[in-house]
Amino acid sequence: MRIVEAARELSDLSYAVKRGGQKVALVPTMGALHEGHRSLIHMAQQQAEFVIVSIFVNRLQFNNEEDFETYPVTLEDDIAICRSSGVSALYMPSNRSMYPESFSTSVEVSGLTARFEGASRPGHFSGVTTVVTKLLTASAPDIAIFGQKDFQQFAVLRKLVNDLDIPVDMVMAPTIREEDGLALSSRNVRLSAESRQRAVLISQGLFHSLSLFQSGIRDTQELIEAARQTCIGEIEIDYIAIVDAQTLEKVSEVHFGDVLLFAGTIDGIRLIDNIIFSA
Ligand code: AMP
Repeated sequence: MRIVEAARELSDLSYAVKRGGQKVALVPTMGALHEGHRSLIHMAQQQAEFVIVSIFVNRLQFNNEEDFETYPVTLEDDIAICRSSGVSALYMPSNRSMYPESFSTSVEVSGLTARFEGASRPGHFSGVTTVVTKLLTASAPDIAIFGQKDFQQFAVLRKLVNDLDIPVDMVMAPTIREEDGLALSSRNVRLSAESRQRAVLISQGLFHSLSLFQSGIRDTQELIEAARQTCIGEIEIDYIAIVDAQTLEKVSEVHFGDVLLFAGTIDGIRLIDNIIFSA
């Protein structure tokens, strides 16, 4: 596995691989790798011969300094996971090389970023779109893989790539969960044993709503309430909404493919999850 720190070195590598007739896939991460990330790597390997994983804790997308300071860093383990997973190249740029003092560019997607995570975390999405633009430029992949776990992020990045004509296929991988349903997240390690127990209510609420949908209920409020009632009093709910998967506009009646978005806080730790209404 090649470890690369410079953007130019990564693009030289990627273009050489592509000239040799192989496909390149990129899996962007912030490290603290878990089974969710591994599933993204696995999916990338099914679609491309050469898989690049990037690890960069992107300060720009943290609207909360404490969240950034306490974000888990497990570099040695991450490198071992990438190696044992058969990753072709690991891109680990330094903060200074990504954002030198002279850095003054920002990439913004309007509209989709105004709601939900964008409203609750000002500046978050411009940090995400700026860093992902840099990662896509540096790695020039044919395919980029992102998790459904961050559903709004995927919608925003798909828009970014379309609007800027970036020649990459965007792929969304399903959310990997603990056995009890909690979506894997690097932030889960910060949950106390007691908070961890409460955290499971999020996915229980989402699956309750999904099962009502599958039994024929299409009323938006009823499906939102099902999720809310499961969490009420235990989790500080930020938002629960059912939206169209492309536009993220709220829907008045729920159809197959619409998405229930959830964000809430337990003991100061913000967790997000979502479910796509399906059969
Ligand atoms: P992060 O390191 O948290 O920024 O996430 C890197 C990528 O992994 C993003 O595309 C996330 O959506 C994805 N991801 C995070 N958690 C999960 C999960 N539980 N299942 C699948 N993908 C995930």
